Amino acid sequence: MAEAALYDTYNRAPLRFERGEGVWLTTESGERYLDFAAGIAVNSLGHSHPHLVQALKDQAEKLWHLSNLYDVPGQERLGRRLAEATFADKVFFTNSGAEALECAIKTARRYQYVKGHPERFHIITFEGAFHGRTLATIAAGGQAKYLEGFGPKVSGFDQVPFGDLDALKAAITDATAAILIEPVQGEGGLRLASKEFMRALRQLCDEHGLLLVLDEVQSGVGRTGKLFAHEWSGITPDIMTVAKGIGGGFPLGACLATEEAASGMKAGTHGTTYGGNPLAMSVGNAVLDIVLADGFLEHVRDVALVFRQGLESLKDRYPDVIEEIRGEGLLIGIKAKGLNTDLLMAMRAEHLLGVPAGDNVVRLLPPLVVTAEEARDGLARIERAAEALSKSGMKKSA
Ligand SMILES: *Cc1c(COP(=O)(O)O)cnc(C)c1O
Repeated sequence: MAEAALYDTYNRAPLRFERGEGVWLTTESGERYLDFAAGIAVNSLGHSHPHLVQALKDQAEKLWHLSNLYDVPGQERLGRRLAEATFADKVFFTNSGAEALECAIKTARRYQYVKGHPERFHIITFEGAFHGRTLATIAAGGQAKYLEGFGPKVSGFDQVPFGDLDALKAAITDATAAILIEPVQGEGGLRLASKEFMRALRQLCDEHGLLLVLDEVQSGVGRTGKLFAHEWSGITPDIMTVAKGIGGGFPLGACLATEEAASGMKAGTHGTTYGGNPLAMSVGNAVLDIVLADGFLEHVRDVALVFRQGLESLKDRYPDVIEEIRGEGLLIGIKAKGLNTDLLMAMRAEHLLGVPAGDNVVRLLPPLVVTAEEARDGLARIERAAEALSKSGMKKSA
């Protein structure tokens, strides 16, 4: 579709959605789709959640924007709630995941700088990582396809294979400031860092005076059935990035840090015009009202189990279509036997939306409010898609 006035940076699907409710999206022509893409893990509470709509409306009638020259309504409260629910003491609000990563990178470098180690600015990252599309975050992600043609790569990012402890140890030098990792690689194909690996990272950081930075932009805010994915491994980071699900669809990100890790970030060292704006704060607080409520994460784990078991059974019945089921909680991947894009198209024909990921994976990220019944509806659609692909595959080989 030629959209002449827009950059051609996206190959958009020929779908025009007009409204959404819960896990459902409706097109201009009135067709309904089950939305297991959820704006790429952003619509954590589905579409048009009444509590979020009300919070945004209430704030919209009071005050939209102030800048960070003043106390911003809701900022102190959201910061305190995030700190109380996590390892963190300090929070910086942004508008996006990449900006949260920029803040995390600057915080880590600045920490070493004020400790008297300006030479320690290198950050070790992992192959298959995705940290955003700014110049620093494409350097951190290290993917050639995102770096090509944009001039010299921002220096100070050293990459090792995901999960390779020996390579990681070998990469630590006197210039290393921090280690940056997604506990579950989202874009990279739903690859999970093992609990043992996460614990080894924590230990290495402590031994070498490095900061452990976790990118939980996709895996956070209940997505894996814990408030943050690293909780599964029992360790805590020094710095963590959050975005996507925390805004439920309103642009909002955050960089969280311990008091110690944030010790270099004094007045004037960093800033943002929009970050932490009153509208974003009202929605962020409303998202937390629900995600932190008793029983919510338990609900995520229960539905995730139903969905996971259903997917494993589809894998057993359609081994020619599905190679592997991966992920944690409602951050799930189907590694396809054929092309992941073919599986996505077959799912779309059944009015089910997913997202492609690296390593030939189809990502499924239902809103966290999805019910077991809706999860089973999704499974039935995936089954019909697998059936269609399986048949067409047999025709081809016959
Ligand atoms: C989406 C994502 C980002 C980038 O977030 P933006 O809001 O697009 O800048 C960074 N890290 C991870 C793990 C992500 O999934």
